[in-house]
Formats: sequence, structure tokens, C-alpha cells
Amino acid sequence: MFCDYTEEQLMIAQMAKDFAEREIVPLDDLYDFNHPLSNSDFKAIWARLQPAVMGVIQGMDFSNLDLISIGIFIEELFKANPSLACTIGMAVGPAGMVYMYGDGEQKMRFIPPIIAGQKIGCTAITEPDVGSNPAGVKTTAVEDEDSYVINGTKTWISNGSISDIVALVCRFKRGDDYDIGTIIVDREMSPYESNELPHLGLKAFPTSELFFTDCRVPKENRLGKKGSVEKSQAGLSMVFEGFEYARTGMALGAIAMAQAAFEHAVSYSKERKQWGKYIGEHQMIQEMIADMATSIDAARFLAYRVLSMLQQRKRCDREAAMAKFYATEMALEVTSKAIQILGANGLSEEFPVERLFRDARMFTIPDGTTQIQKLIVARSILGLSAFC
Ligand SMILES: Cc1cc2nc3c(=O)[nH]c(=O)nc-3n(C[C@H](O)[C@H](O)[C@H](O)COP(=O)(O)OP(=O)(O)OC[C@H]3O[C@@H](n4cnc5c(N)ncnc54)[C@H](O)[C@@H]3O)c2cc1C
Repeated sequence: MFCDYTEEQLMIAQMAKDFAEREIVPLDDLYDFNHPLSNSDFKAIWARLQPAVMGVIQGMDFSNLDLISIGIFIEELFKANPSLACTIGMAVGPAGMVYMYGDGEQKMRFIPPIIAGQKIGCTAITEPDVGSNPAGVKTTAVEDEDSYVINGTKTWISNGSISDIVALVCRFKRGDDYDIGTIIVDREMSPYESNELPHLGLKAFPTSELFFTDCRVPKENRLGKKGSVEKSQAGLSMVFEGFEYARTGMALGAIAMAQAAFEHAVSYSKERKQWGKYIGEHQMIQEMIADMATSIDAARFLAYRVLSMLQQRKRCDREAAMAKFYATEMALEVTSKAIQILGANGLSEEFPVERLFRDARMFTIPDGTTQIQKLIVARSILGLSAFC
């Protein structure tokens, strides 16, 4: 438990747990989560889950669900199925971007089909030569009458191969000048190619290259607050502000995976006997259990502090960076200790902790590596930047 939850938040926690057990865990028998989900499988899963998610929200009259409650809900989703939780989070991501930065017409056009699960979303920043420094993106959008013509390659894009919609970060060219911004690309109207990239963990979570070749996208699909902030200024700050939410989500996911591995380790410690007693009675196992519990709690405090700041619409890049790097590194350590506690069984595919370890390993890199998060934290403390 993070701190004193309200009664409503405690009810959400219970409902989220019930929901995950009733709706998500049984999906393991229906779908193959050892390979990337297909567009049709994900849509079928979302069609099952979406009414139940809406039921949870409407049943509690949580039309204004607070971010702490949403955090609790995200933890349960990740505990039940980390790959699916990632796929859902990335699928609806562009709706969040349009909600925050789109105009009325864009909100009407893009948000409903994403939320209804008719269109699967993804967000594309990373390129083959551009990872930790998003300001270097090379994909170009060149004005041509009522369209932008887009050329470039994106890589490591979550949901890329199954996406119907991309929130695409690119360089908008104006003669010799350019600015960085985001445009919504609808695959049906503006086709692009993709290629799946196999990886270590989160096996069902698609991760892909995207190829844009003379891809024509209507000009009105570009995001940016008209009036208050010039589009040219909004482009990168939109990306960085989006990172505060994304990094908090990753911290919560990491906490959930660590929690799941921890619970398996605790149960095992009370079942397995060596030297005539439960392994949980050996002091060195107790030390690992204490370390694991303490670091999970510490990560949770950091993550929920960010949720509370986001709820108040405060900028929190330092706090989000702290939560992201601490929680994702912690999850690696905790899942590794869980393997240690299970002994050889911890390495077996028959037990869930080896998968949790591989899944957790995927989290220290996206949305800014651990090193980049530390540079953000130190920059905000020192007032000196290591990025220049
Ligand atoms: C599972 C997964 C999902 C992803 N999903 C998406 C997605 O949906 N959309 C998207 O756009 N991208 C996505 N990415 C890409 C991800 O954001 C990048 O991998 C990440 O930003 C790091 O970039 P890179 O891999 O190119 O590493 P690089 O930037 O090449 O870094 C390599 C190493 O150098 C270090 N390094 C780099 N710069 C510095 C510095 N200034 N100081 C110190 N050390 C430094 C890094 O910490 C790292 O250890 C995803 C990646 C993964 C693994």
C-alpha cells in the first residue's frame, strides 16, 4: 500500500484485482502470448475488455477517475499480463496526445475510434540513428498543397506492425528551416509499411520498424495548440510533456512486475524445504525478502508522488525521471532475486519468474534509458546540463 488510500481508491483496488482475475488471466488459454499479438487478436481482446473497463468506471461513477486510482488499475493490469498491458497502453497513447494537444475537430475524428478499439495506435519517435536524443529526428514532412509528404524510417515502435494510427514525430520543413512536431497518420488513408522486431521479453507486445515513403498526410492532421503556443514551439515540448506520463506508466508497470515476482518468491519460501526447514526460515532468504519488499515500496512512493503531481497538472520531469529509473532498475533486481529464491526452478519456463525477469529487462531502455533519466535528475539539481 502506498499511503492512506481513500475508500473509493480501496474499492478500485479490489475491483481492479477482480477484473484482472476474471477477464485477463483467462485470456492465457485463448491467445498465444509467446508471440506478437496480431491486429485482429488485439482488437478481439479489446472488444472483450473494453465494455468491462467501462463497466468498472461507470459502476463506480468514476467519470472523473483520479490518477491515483488509474495508477492502481494500471498495476493490476500489468500484474496479470505485462505484454497485454503494454499493448493496451500504447494502443490508446495517441488518443491521449490528441486529447492534450489536438483541436476540437481532431478530437472528434481521432479519439472515438481509438477508444472503441477500431483503430490501434502507436507513437513513433525513435529512428535507426536517433534514440536518446529525440531532437535529432530525421524523418521529414514537406508541405505540398493540402498535405505533408513524409519520408523516413522509425524503429522499435511499440504496436508498430499492428497499428492503424501513428502519432508521428518528424521534422516539418519550411524551405531551409524546420521545426519538430507531431502529426497523426491514419494508415488506411496514408499507407506505410512495417516489419516486426523479435526481442527478449514482453513476447506478445509487438515492436516494429515503420517505413514512410512519399506518404501523403492531410495538413489538418498536425497537432499543436493553435493560438496560445506556436506549433513550432509546441513540437518538442509536447514530446517531453508526454514523457512525464509515459515514464510514470513504465514505473507502475515495473512495480507491478516486481510485485508479482515478489509474491511468487514469498509463497515459494513458505513451501520449499531444505535442511529440514522452510527456505523462508533461512536468514539469507529473509534478507532478500526484506530488500525486495523495501525497494518495491520505495519505487511505489516515487511513482505515486508523480501521479499526484500530474493530477495537479504540475510539471514533474525530475520526479518522473526518478520514478522511471528507480522502479525499472528495481524491477530487474527484484525479479532476479525472485529467480534466486526459487533456485533452478526460477530459471524454468514452468514457473512465472523467468518470464517476469525477461519482461522487466525490457523496461530500463524505452522512454529514455536509465542513464538519460539520471542526467535529467542531475540537471534539475545542478542547473548544469550534460546534454550539450
Ligand atoms: C520495448 C521497447 C519499446 C519501445 N517503444 C518505442 C515506441 O513506442 N516509440 C518510440 O519512438 N521508441 C520506442 N522505443 C525506443 C526507445 O525509446 C529507445 O530505444 C531509447 O530511447 C534509447 O535509444 P537507443 O536504443 O537508440 O539507444 P542509444 O540512444 O543509442 O543509447 C545507447 C546507450 O548509450 C547511452 N547514452 C546515450 N546518450 C547518452 C548520454 N548523453 N549520456 C550517457 N549515456 C548515454 C544510453 O543510456 C544507452 O546505454 C522502444 C524501445 C524498447 C526497448
